[in-house]
Amino acid sequence: MNTLELSPDEKISRIFRAISSPARVQILAAIGKGEACVCHLEALLDMRQAYISQQLMELRDAGLLDTRRDGRYIFYQLTEPRLIDMLIDIGILFGISAADLEALLNTEPLPQCCCPDCLAQLNPMLIDIEEITS
Ligand SMILES: [Zn+2]
Repeated sequence: MNTLELSPDEKISRIFRAISSPARVQILAAIGKGEACVCHLEALLDMRQAYISQQLMELRDAGLLDTRRDGRYIFYQLTEPRLIDMLIDIGILFGISAADLEALLNTEPLPQCCCPDCLAQLNPMLIDIEEITS
């Protein structure tokens, strides 16, 4: 779809349509203001990789996500990180508790994840050794 042909109301609807699924809200929240690879989202959200990839594609098609390749990993990041603030504002506005919103935005490293960010945070020594030997 060519976004240039869309009117402002259509553009805004398109953004909300892209967000309009719990899985995609979870994915956006998981990426947050940083970046995440598919293996991280898979470990965090307990969803199948094919399903996550499909959701990522929809978010990307709507212009909400960018990608960055680093070796064998593809990292996803929000094109506009402030979108996270807006999602939080919507949550607060409609009575979702701060604790619940905080849980949604969990950024703890995952022991069962193989992405470079989690490995580096959980075991800095391991990354040093890998970098030296590779
Ligand atoms: Zn990870």
